[in-house]
Amino acid sequence: MNKNTVTVIGSGLGGLSAAISLAQEGYDVTIHEKNPQIGGKLNVLKDQGYTFDLGPSILTLPHIFERLFERSGKRMSDYIPIRSVRPHWRNFFEDGKVVDLDPEPERMAAEARKVGEDPENVRRFLKYSADLYDLVNAGYFEQGLDNAAAFRKFYGLRNFLKFDLFRTMHGGVKRYLSTRHMQDIFDYFIKYVGSSAYHSPAFMNCMATIQFRYDLWYVDGGLYHIALGLQRLMDELGVKVRLNSEVVEVSKEHGRVTGIVTRDGTRHPADIIVSNMEVIPACEKLLHEDDELMKSLEKYEPSCSGLVLELGLDRKYPQLAHHNFFFSENQREHFHTVFRKRQLPPDPTIYLVAASKTDPTVAPEGCDGLKILPHIPHIDDDNPLTHEDYMAFKERVLIKLERMGLTDLRKHVVFEHCWTPYDIREQYFSNKGSIYGVVSDRFKNLAFKAPKQSTKYPNLFFVGGSVNPGGGMPMVVLCGQNVAKNVITWDRR
Ligand SMILES: Cc1cc2nc3c(=O)[nH]c(=O)nc-3n(C[C@H](O)[C@H](O)[C@H](O)COP(=O)(O)OP(=O)(O)OC[C@H]3O[C@@H](n4cnc5c(N)ncnc54)[C@H](O)[C@@H]3O)c2cc1C
Repeated sequence: MNKNTVTVIGSGLGGLSAAISLAQEGYDVTIHEKNPQIGGKLNVLKDQGYTFDLGPSILTLPHIFERLFERSGKRMSDYIPIRSVRPHWRNFFEDGKVVDLDPEPERMAAEARKVGEDPENVRRFLKYSADLYDLVNAGYFEQGLDNAAAFRKFYGLRNFLKFDLFRTMHGGVKRYLSTRHMQDIFDYFIKYVGSSAYHSPAFMNCMATIQFRYDLWYVDGGLYHIALGLQRLMDELGVKVRLNSEVVEVSKEHGRVTGIVTRDGTRHPADIIVSNMEVIPACEKLLHEDDELMKSLEKYEPSCSGLVLELGLDRKYPQLAHHNFFFSENQREHFHTVFRKRQLPPDPTIYLVAASKTDPTVAPEGCDGLKILPHIPHIDDDNPLTHEDYMAFKERVLIKLERMGLTDLRKHVVFEHCWTPYDIREQYFSNKGSIYGVVSDRFKNLAFKAPKQSTKYPNLFFVGGSVNPGGGMPMVVLCGQNVAKNVITWDRR
């Protein structure tokens, strides 16, 4: 039995996945979490009979979560009850057109025809997406490749060229789909990683396959039940969790990390440390790295942030599906404003969740609870936006939703909760209020995130949205599993 001690800083999904995977290998694991509950961005708000997912609301690739249970000889369904959602998304356009995304080919073909798209174009695009997914999944995801050298070794030059490297994600979409409506919809799969379809590489088009091949899922009672299910598994494995325990320093000696210091001044020695605090804040605030090292991390720019708005309504809007998108009239401009100008978009694309369409337990009878999430720029410390700027933007969002069919929305609000990027930064210590970790940008980082093992301290590892393969629930859970493999390889070297 391996009794090396591992300290995990933070209990986001990446931290939980690493903790579980290492405990299953016999490590003595303790998590320190600054908040009073586990889960990080996987978070919940319950008030006045409404239950809102404050963070993620779409579960994809559940088989990646299933592995955490299988390795303990358990079944995920005994811990986390999930069911698939139909349609996947409903898409609303300013010209009044409404299109559903559905994985059934016949239904999807009928939806494509509504906006004049040849269903054959959709079929060919999905084939292109599936080929990219299989390519990216084989190495980058499953092998946990971390840098260009590992990529070259695994893929070789011939496969490298199959990544469609000379196009942007939008370029890949445009090659197959001819209508603006379908282009906007498939461009917006980039929402899963909080980046821009006009600036991220074409292989990000693999994301459509994540939904179309592996389906889109809901967790009964709300997505926080994922955290509750993982908590049960950790209890069974003996993982120790210290809540309200902020880590303020990582101690170092002779080129190794030796332990952590918590806010109450206590020192906790550790053989191995896994930081689920993002790489840049951890290097700056816990490791006190010098300017040279911090400069080398600048390419890992944060993903976008969001205005996270929860509304309890005294009515239902029957035209809504569980997941809805209200598109900008000019999505290119939306992306450009958020990711290049770093301003609040005049006409944003808005994601809106009405989970009561699937699960009546999350809102009082006859009512909808809405989570509304437009993507907006991460905090720009040189040019900060004020609370008033965000509140004016919120009003713009609500007016757009009313214009696009949610008549008198503002008159039916009986409960409201809103987080700006400043709240998100404070809540999770995320870099500049980012919600998905590091941005995927063709020119800044070619969609690479930071490596999982520190290049300076060999017994320090990172997990979560700021390291490869990046943000989104299944990706950080996979990252945690791959971090555990890296720890074991290093430990047994
Ligand atoms: C509004 C929103 C909507 C989203 N929607 C989706 C979606 O629908 N589907 C999807 O797959 N993904 C979605 N995501 C992204 C997904 O939630 C994240 O990618 C993922 O949960 C992040 O996990 P992580 O491992 O990076 O850790 P995080 O969730 O970032 O957690 C890090 C944890 O570390 C703790 N911590 C940080 N520093 C310290 C310290 N010094 N001491 C102690 N504790 C510390 C924090 O408190 C936090 O609990 C969404 C995110 C947000 C915010």
